[in-house]
Amino acid sequence: MAQQGVVVESTGSWYKVDIEGTIHDCRTRGRLRLKGVRSTSPVVVGDVVDVEWSDSGEGVIVGIAPRRNYIIRRASNLSKESHIIAANIDCAAVVVTIAAPLTAPEFIDRFLVTCEAYKVPAVIILNKIDLAREQQPDELAAFHEIYRSAGYRVIECSALTGEGVEEIKELLRDKTTLLAGNSGVGKSTLVNTIEPSAKAKTGAISETHLQGKHTTTFSHVYPLDFGGRLIDTPGIRGFGLIDIKPEELYHYFPEIMKVSPECKFYNCTHTHEPHCAVVEAVMEGRISASRYESYLKMLDDDGKYR
Ligand code: GDP
Ligand code: ZN
Repeated sequence: MAQQGVVVESTGSWYKVDIEGTIHDCRTRGRLRLKGVRSTSPVVVGDVVDVEWSDSGEGVIVGIAPRRNYIIRRASNLSKESHIIAANIDCAAVVVTIAAPLTAPEFIDRFLVTCEAYKVPAVIILNKIDLAREQQPDELAAFHEIYRSAGYRVIECSALTGEGVEEIKELLRDKTTLLAGNSGVGKSTLVNTIEPSAKAKTGAISETHLQGKHTTTFSHVYPLDFGGRLIDTPGIRGFGLIDIKPEELYHYFPEIMKVSPECKFYNCTHTHEPHCAVVEAVMEGRISASRYESYLKMLDDDGKYR
């Protein structure tokens, strides 16, 4: 009889599945690998799967429950191949910093666009707030203004002093949350502060994965002591804009979407057209220049519009 579990680690050829709190190594049946989504990995972290036991006692994944949602990225900038990072996510949080190092606004905005496109609520965790307050108070204020006006929640925190950590725990409680961020922003420190038992596992994962060629593409799920799951996505630097047509890109910038009905042309791309309400809003400071620049850069990536 099949048992239901949640995939907590995937290498593409074997999987760790949490079945009622116990982790089992499982494989998939050949058949399963061919079915469904065209992706480098058919079963991903966060998938709810049915596991059966072979005569030798090995766990075999025989079915995947329909996904509530998922986040994907391109295998590389030029590749058309997609890679699902994780499925069944309640919330996605991106850890960013404005001091040591500065996270590129475009990275943040790509992350937010991906979340909008896949209908995953997004939150920004602004770490190293201790440094930002001291070193870049003006940039800090500007950062808040940019993302408040775009409609996103920003949680200030310091993995070093513990500020904001309780607020993050509240966010994570009883939910499955994907955590992303460039290296150096303090994501590991934060994960270990939130869930001290995660520490050992963090080291173990990178060792296993360093051997494979898809070294950095696998994510891991940490059960949280206070309830919920944290999906850590090591090495994920950028998200591809798979399946987003250039003419639809603005749908995933909530503040651009909101004013777009006032543009003169129904098919306005908000780049060069006369009487574009979006450009006017940028000029008047109602839409942030930084967000608009990210929009233009993402359009440019497709090379179709400008
Ligand atoms: P990761 O690459 O995102 O996992 O970053 P790490 O967790 O390894 O942290 C990178 C560096 O930033 C380390 O030297 C940390 O001690 C430091 N760091 C992490 N969080 C904070 C913070 O909130 N404030 C300050 N000042 N330093 C931090
Ligand atoms: Zn327009």
